[in-house]
Amino acid sequence: MGECTMKKIKNYINGRFQAAISGKYLDNYNPAEGKVYSLIPDSDARDIEVAVEAAKDAFADWSETTAIERSLILSKIADLIDRDHEMLAKAESVDNGKPLKLASRVDIPRASSNMRFYASAIQQFASEFHQMDKSTINYTLRQPVGVAGCISPWNLPLYLFTWKIAPALAAGNTVVAKPSEITPMTAYLFSKICVEAGLPPGILNIVHGLGSKAGQSIVEHPEVPIISFTGGTETGKKLAVTAAPMFKKLSLELGGKNPNILFDDCDFELALNTTIHSSFANQGEICLCGSRIFVQKGIYHKFLDAFVEKTRLLKVGDPLEEGSKLGAIVSEDHMNKILSYIQLAKEEGGTVIVGGKRVTVDGRCKEGYFVEPTIIIGLDHMCRINQEEIFGPVVTIMPFEDEDEALEYANSTAYGLSATLWTEDLKRAHLVADQIKSGVIWVNCWLVRDLRTPFGGMKQSGMGREGGLEALRFFTEPKNVCVKL
Ligand code: NAD
Repeated sequence: MGECTMKKIKNYINGRFQAAISGKYLDNYNPAEGKVYSLIPDSDARDIEVAVEAAKDAFADWSETTAIERSLILSKIADLIDRDHEMLAKAESVDNGKPLKLASRVDIPRASSNMRFYASAIQQFASEFHQMDKSTINYTLRQPVGVAGCISPWNLPLYLFTWKIAPALAAGNTVVAKPSEITPMTAYLFSKICVEAGLPPGILNIVHGLGSKAGQSIVEHPEVPIISFTGGTETGKKLAVTAAPMFKKLSLELGGKNPNILFDDCDFELALNTTIHSSFANQGEICLCGSRIFVQKGIYHKFLDAFVEKTRLLKVGDPLEEGSKLGAIVSEDHMNKILSYIQLAKEEGGTVIVGGKRVTVDGRCKEGYFVEPTIIIGLDHMCRINQEEIFGPVVTIMPFEDEDEALEYANSTAYGLSATLWTEDLKRAHLVADQIKSGVIWVNCWLVRDLRTPFGGMKQSGMGREGGLEALRFFTEPKNVCVKL
């Protein structure tokens, strides 16, 4: 396809669709085919400047609207996402490489739930009142902060993009948002939906481009006092360094290396089947995937055999085909990173007992970036494979003796995003959950999400919490008013 016939994604600034001021474009790949299929505006500080100006101008009116007025628009956007469900799911699958079925069942429904949830939550949001004595009262105003910067990653593109935008807008902020340059398509389609839903110009501005240029310019901009970021820990550190001297409000949702702990007394079949999902769903490219599986000695061999057998049955293939359980890895670079970690596992003394290689899928996907679901055993919990985030379809399995050992292994990394426990003993579940240093713990389930709950990580997995009222608190500035009557 020549450049002139290729679909060009546009920035959405001040209600208008436009190219980057530089006039330059970046390639956007279909990872299942290994081919460029559209072009992205290569935006820089100049585009961000225009977007921030528009958002600043729009703030005066938007921050004065009632919660109900904002709620109506967010609900309308949710309805339009539902109407376009099929088209958006296909776009997400093509752009990211994930199975269409997954995009259709998880990503797109969650995007509309995010909008609908915050449309409702903002109407329930209350602030605090403290009475000191009969004649002294305090009430706390919660005011929108201003222009919010929202920056999201490629693994759950529209799902995580809307998870930030919805609470930011609901709370009365205006937004300059940047989706990942690796998966920009559904954010572009979303901008068209916002226009159709009647969102007035300037309230949401979506600027496409590289993190180092467009993203960095948002974080550096002095008129953007609040940043919500989801992405890698190293990028999060850079953001924090830029934002700290300006005392910006920061929410950082970063990487993970999550433990999945199976005790002898677990519901074996349930733990086994769910572990297949928590290991390989979305090609293992979910920050919550349980990449370190710890199995108590009494069921270790039984689990290993059953898990190997089930993993061998997983079909890696064309994401648009019904039977494909794993689609393509998001990019060639990321595929090579995953393969290099598998090589490192061997150098560290591990044994690859399933998978370990790139897969060639026949037909239109023959140039695509596919990797086999991979199981590695025989590694120490402190080696690099068990300490660093791989973010692919690669898990390690290790035996453990008792609760203390499981806890020591689980807490041994720099990360602290999520953990999963499998046991029928509620007391044990509670005691272990209490001591694991992760922001999100699942007991006898995985990725069950109630949007009202706080979501986020400890240690190097991030700072702050998203979800429920936590996000509305983050996107508002509390101001206490003390009145002596
Ligand atoms: P990334 O850090 O490379 O990029 C994330 C976003 O930040 C992209 O939009 C990118 O363009 C932008 N960016 C890059 N450099 C920037 C800079 N200097 N200033 C501002 N923006 C910049 O991450 P990724 O590879 O897109 O995503 C994968 C990572 O995201 C993994 O580490 C994964 O664990 C993490 N993640 C975390 C969560 C969570 O909720 N904690 C959820 C999903 C993904």
